[in-house]
Amino acid sequence: MTIPVFESGDTLEMKKKHPCGSFSFLVLRTGSDIRIRCLTCGREILVPRIKLEKNIKSIIKKDSIVK
Ligand SMILES: [Zn+2]
Repeated sequence: MTIPVFESGDTLEMKKKHPCGSFSFLVLRTGSDIRIRCLTCGREILVPRIKLEKNIKSIIKKDSIVK
């Protein structure tokens, strides 16, 4: 199993959705705990890295987003 690599500014697609229905979260701060912000309702959550890594479906790197 590969360890997901992400940094602040990246967007995470999660397997489990937030209570508001969103699967997308912005990474605000990394460390042993990761601070993420729900892109739909804007709520910020602090999640232990181990718990978060199990939940990641895919990572959208900040420099890969083309607008
Ligand atoms: Zn939400």
